[in-house]
Order: sequence, then structure tokens, then C-alpha cells
Amino acid sequence: MRHKVKLPNRASSPYLLLTNISQLLTLRGESAPRRGSALNAVGIIEDASVLCGGGKIVAVGRQREVLRDEWLRKNRSKIHELDCSGRVVLPGFIDCHTHPVFAEPRLIDFEKRISGASYEEIAAAGGGIRSSIAAVRAASRKELADKVLAALNAMLRQGTTTVEAKSGYGLSTESEIKSLEAIRDAANRWPGTVQSTLLAAHVVPPEFAGKADQYVEKVCDEIIPLAARRKLARYVDVFCERGAFTLEQSEKIFAAARRNGLGTRAHVCQFTSSRLAGLLAHHPASLDHMDCVGEEDVAALNGSDTVAVLLPGANYFLGHKDYPGARRLIDSGVAIALATDYNPGTSPTPSMAFVLSTACTHMRMSPAEAICAATMNAACALGLQAQKGTIEPGKDADLAVFDVRDYREIAYWFAWNRCAEMVAGGEVQSFAVDD
Ligand SMILES: [Zn+2]
Repeated sequence: MRHKVKLPNRASSPYLLLTNISQLLTLRGESAPRRGSALNAVGIIEDASVLCGGGKIVAVGRQREVLRDEWLRKNRSKIHELDCSGRVVLPGFIDCHTHPVFAEPRLIDFEKRISGASYEEIAAAGGGIRSSIAAVRAASRKELADKVLAALNAMLRQGTTTVEAKSGYGLSTESEIKSLEAIRDAANRWPGTVQSTLLAAHVVPPEFAGKADQYVEKVCDEIIPLAARRKLARYVDVFCERGAFTLEQSEKIFAAARRNGLGTRAHVCQFTSSRLAGLLAHHPASLDHMDCVGEEDVAALNGSDTVAVLLPGANYFLGHKDYPGARRLIDSGVAIALATDYNPGTSPTPSMAFVLSTACTHMRMSPAEAICAATMNAACALGLQAQKGTIEPGKDADLAVFDVRDYREIAYWFAWNRCAEMVAGGEVQSFAVDD
């Protein structure tokens, strides 16, 4: 069986009309992170229609109101129509945390972990992050770009139109830049939107073992300035965790990012708790994982614009009993988003719908909260809230059409891709399953 994404017909009308939508989730409202009970408001319109033009959303509403427009009535025969009878339309998912630049799946880790092996035993058997580093260093930019594009297409087929993509398995100047170039090459061949992040501070590379501070200096003085100068990244990320980088080192990396005009985000509180005040002082766009965030820091987060990005795919794949404490964060007023954490070691899934299902079943989020966290709040985590995350006039025409009658089914059916059609930049990206 072969899957393929048909390319849009570039010569077609610049206008696209989605008609007969059973349920349209507009997510309309403020262009700011939705907190507390506002996370439940998905702005449903039934029997709806959406008009797109020039890559943007032009009109949204009840079908009879949208079709009443005089210009539309006159020009309807020239406008491409997409019949969404019996279907749900929502903003394309925004996957705001992924690591797509890797060469191979990590099957040694997978099998060894099942048999109860420790992190050290997995590394000794040739698995672990070191195997990903060796493979990325050996791969060509073209090979990596092809892998990234395949992942982006898998994401698109499952409802995602915007992706944050990190480097982080090169861990040398040359291989980190090669990874960012591979992301750019793939993004240029993909109809959705990609935001690049430099994650040179993922772990200390083997040649700097015992010399973490020296590697941090190299990241701050060499890799970050080069990535910024070449406009290859918009954000800098750091893995702030026991065994990776300390809070002090992470703050140095944040400071270097800001000196070079780049935004910041961090992996933090995944396995162990860290105090967040020093990182929050740099106004990071997001702090990600947050499984072990402490009570005092929940209050600090509530007063900030930083989005807490929760990544339950990693908890699922690592077989953890516990999941990120979404309820506590939401009920405290913290802005949260959801993402796949697509990566070869801990979360090899491109499916936001699976993440939504996990958030509902294991984190007690409502389907509406999960959708808002995967669209509008994820847009905020990438600084894209003015262009993306809702279906409102003036926003980018990035839409997902699901073959379900009720939006709650998107999180209900799991491991079942119900995405029927995608619209990215106002163009239909039809895909079909071929035998
Ligand atoms: Zn990650």
C-alpha cells in the first residue's frame, strides 16, 4: 500500500470555498493564550462555510450567511469548492515541539527498554542518543532533508499544518548547521509552515565528556551566532535536566540566544524538578514537558506569557505511569499547549490526534481543551498567534477536515487517522490511499 500527497493545482482559482461543514471549530477570540475555562471555548458554528482567498481566510459563518454575499454569488462558478458534508473543520494542528532531524529509528532502545534494561545498558548496547548523533553526523544534508520531509508529510496527512522543528542530534557546529539546513530544505518543499529551533544543547557530545562548560561556551560563542547570522533558526532550545545541562548553563544559553536576536524555549522538569525563575527571567516562548513542575513555579508561570508545552507521547512511549499534570496547570491559569515531541528515542509519532486522545484519557483534559491546546495555544507557543491557530478573517487559511460528525470524535477514535482533507495556505492538499 502506498500513500501519496497530491500536489495542489497551482493554476486553480485563488479562492476556495468550504461548504456544508457539519461543525466548524473557529477557536475565535483573543489572539492570546487561552487560560482556565477559556481553554474550553472552541467557537462552534454548525452548517458552516469558510471562504479562503490569497492564502488567507476571507469569510466565516453559517453557510446561508456566507453565501448571501453578493460578490460570492456572482463569482461562485469560478471558485473551487470543497464539500465538507458530515465533516468537522478546525484550524490545522500546530505541532509546537518536534525533533525530526534523525536518520534511523532507535530499535535497540525500544527492545532493551521492554526487557527492563537501564539507560546505561542501552548505551552500552549501542543505543541511546549517541547512536542518533553518530547517524546524523554520517548522513548527508539531502538524506536528512528527505527524512524531515517524510515526517512533515506524515504530520500533514494527520491534520498538522505548522511544525516547530529542532536540530539536536548533530552536536557539532557542522552537523547542527547541516541539520538546520535540512529543516529549511524540507520546509521549502512542504506546503505548511515550519519554525526552526537550534537545540545544540541537547546533551553534552561524547568528545566533550566531562567538559560540559567548554561545550556550553562553544554553543554560546560559535554555534548560536552562526545559526543566527545565517537565519537558520528562530529559537534556541536547551535540555535542562540532570545528566544534560544545569540551570546555570541553560541560563547562559538563553542569554546568548537573546544577544543574537533569537527567541528561547527549554526542555525542563521532565524527570526532575528545577526552579524556573532564572529561565522565566528571559521570557522564553515555552517551557516544555513540565511533568515535575513545583507549586511555586506554577504561580510564576501563571503570571507570564510563557506557554507550558505538555508532551504525553513521551510518557506513553516510555511506559510511564504518570503523565504531565494538565489539570493542575489549567486550573491554576497557566497557558498550556500540546505537541507530539516527535523524536526517535521517546516519542516516534507524527499524530496530534493521538496526543489529543492521550491528553483526554490520561491527563483528564476535555476534548475541547485538548483541541485549543493543539491549535491556538500552540500558535502562541511559536509567536504565531496573529496569523494562525483560529479560523477568523485575515488569518492564514490552514484548515483540517476530519471525517467525523462531532469534534469530540477526533480525540475519541485512537490510532485511527480520521483526517480526510487538508488545506494549507488556502490550497487543498488532497491525499489518497493507493493500493
Ligand atoms: Zn523534545
